[in-house]
Amino acid sequence: MKLFRFGPPENERPGVMLASGAHLDVSAFGQDYDETFFATDGPARLAQWLEANAANCPNVPGSVRRASCVKRPSKIVCVGLNYAKHAAETGAPVPAEPILFFKSTTALCGPDDNVVIPKRSEKTDWEVELAIVIGKKATYVSQDEAFDYIAGYALHNDYSERAFQLERGGQWVKGKSADTFAPLGPFLVTKDEIPDPNKLHLWLRVNGELLQDSNTDDMIFNVPMLVSYISQFMTLLPGDVISTGTPSGVGMGLKPPRFLQPGDVVTLGIEGLGEQRQTAVAFS
Ligand code: ZN
Repeated sequence: MKLFRFGPPENERPGVMLASGAHLDVSAFGQDYDETFFATDGPARLAQWLEANAANCPNVPGSVRRASCVKRPSKIVCVGLNYAKHAAETGAPVPAEPILFFKSTTALCGPDDNVVIPKRSEKTDWEVELAIVIGKKATYVSQDEAFDYIAGYALHNDYSERAFQLERGGQWVKGKSADTFAPLGPFLVTKDEIPDPNKLHLWLRVNGELLQDSNTDDMIFNVPMLVSYISQFMTLLPGDVISTGTPSGVGMGLKPPRFLQPGDVVTLGIEGLGEQRQTAVAFS
């Protein structure tokens, strides 16, 4: 099943894309895609509800804004330097254990929203990533049982302001958390449709130029390892997002480095998880 959300910010509603390609408004189901939805077996209940009700659901026009595919979760946990070539391009050593950092949940936005270059930013950069959406409260989970705790997967662009991240002291969170720095979607694809998340092609273009082109099989720490690992340090709640790191080809790794300017267009995708398109605009 492919779950999406749509409508204007602050008034977003749930939808389902059927195998036929139809986009249904499932507001009548009565629940948005939030912690409660995932904690109560929402995807299975929604699938069952659709059997009786799909014919009465209105279609969502293609012109309507797509929102983040999950409602604001308790946290977005990100993994740093999880692809060896990306670690090399940043000049950092390959980590012995996953590097974790948080991204503000207020950074979430829709997959085709403009990316707003923050005030005083000169180094706004892109990062195509596979995101995991948690389906069940996870504390001290083993790698063997990790898939039981996953609801599905989504495409994420982990936008990063490199000066805020690396030159202003302290943690990376300052460079990761501006509004619109976390476009998530277009869909949450339930895990039954993605048999192997550790083998998915992912790519990103800026103004049509292919800059990131890799596969999740190049990740240093794979999907079940990351769910298990993170759950040793914190409880993951249903709906929480784990972003699994980006491959090489980010702007700071180019020679010379390249960062987004107003008017630049970023397109990206992951096999089976759809595509995104953002236009960079100045903060106003
Ligand atoms: Zn990242």
